[in-house]
Amino acid sequence: MNERTSFVPADRVAALPPYLFAGIDRARAEAEARGLDIISLGIGDPDTPTPDFIIEALRGAAGRPDNHRYPSYEGMPAFRRAVADWYAARFGVDDLDPDREILCTIGSKEAIGHFPFAWVNPGDLVLVPSPGYPVYAIAARFAGAEVLPLPLTEENGFLPNLDAIDEAVWDRAKIIWLNSPNNPTGSMASLDFYGRLVSLCRRHHVILAHDSAYSEIYYDDADKPLSVFSVPGARDVAIEFQSLSKTYNMTGWRVGMAVGNAELVRGLGVIKENMDSGTFQAVQEAAMAALRGGDAFCRELRRMYRGRRDTVCAALRRFGLRFYEPRGALYVWARVPDGFTSESFVSRVLNETGVVLTPGTGFGAAGEGWFRISLTVPTARLEEAMSRLARVQAMNGAAGAGGVL
Ligand SMILES: *Cc1c(COP(=O)(O)O)cnc(C)c1O
Repeated sequence: MNERTSFVPADRVAALPPYLFAGIDRARAEAEARGLDIISLGIGDPDTPTPDFIIEALRGAAGRPDNHRYPSYEGMPAFRRAVADWYAARFGVDDLDPDREILCTIGSKEAIGHFPFAWVNPGDLVLVPSPGYPVYAIAARFAGAEVLPLPLTEENGFLPNLDAIDEAVWDRAKIIWLNSPNNPTGSMASLDFYGRLVSLCRRHHVILAHDSAYSEIYYDDADKPLSVFSVPGARDVAIEFQSLSKTYNMTGWRVGMAVGNAELVRGLGVIKENMDSGTFQAVQEAAMAALRGGDAFCRELRRMYRGRRDTVCAALRRFGLRFYEPRGALYVWARVPDGFTSESFVSRVLNETGVVLTPGTGFGAAGEGWFRISLTVPTARLEEAMSRLARVQAMNGAAGAGGVL
């Protein structure tokens, strides 16, 4: 009798792209085994702790038995009220209905991943930025959609070129994803860009899904990220995914919100009701404390990241590497030296220096030729990483070719 020794994965799993970081993880383990001190500029996970006032709010709320039961699916009314107030104070969007236009989510990855299941049928078309956060495309494919990457290029300031999207594509598209401030490039959409996108989505009846996870991580106080709802009429077509993860160093806490068009919010809610049971109420209470009292903390956080960004940009300038000076988010997006691919450059740097970078191809084919530096390590370590990069042989050939984009 033949006993089965393995299971055949579902087609959707078998069709996943190969895990790009497998090679890098292996190279990292080898470098570590050779005794190299590893500095990871790979992951985008804030290195400083959640502020005390938020932890204290959790402590208080965690002790109350009424918080120990299943939360409501849509989130506590007081949480949704706090989100509406925060949108009013931060973006001037002051008429959100907490009952119909706001949903509490288990961080934004969960919501971004579930959203297409509410709206997409097999064969529908979903437009995603490339390079981009991988969840947009993978979730759309899990739901059976066809995915069309929208290249983010230097020429277009790393925003999708709306004029290059055919009428036929607009007519077929069900969802278009936008992420501003952008991971991995650091680009940011203007009011004019949001306006054009909203009007195209209205004309062609396309859902505009906006990932705004980095809205509070920006570098110029005179150039703050906007909400898509800063545009009149956006609420007819758009939903915005927000998160406390990067804003308040709360990646492990798993809390965020989906905001916008009532029908789109409700659609996401239907999927979530059938898939999860909401966010621990004590975490929602801590999130309320963050939204209500976090401004001073965020200012300090931005100051810290600005210093780190300047350290990295100054080093890249010295190396003569081209890069985009980020306007928001936690990364610097830079061009590999001539003669390298994203992966060959990243492997070379890791082998020679123990510094881990992310190859641009980890964010889609359009990332080829680029790499990402994450600013989520202490400044002293970033400086150390940059001085090690200066010793990489490949950098010497790059000198003179570069400059700020
Ligand atoms: C980090 C990140 C998220 C959010 O993560 P959550 O912790 O799930 O809220 C969403 N989008 C992008 C582009 C990110 O980089």
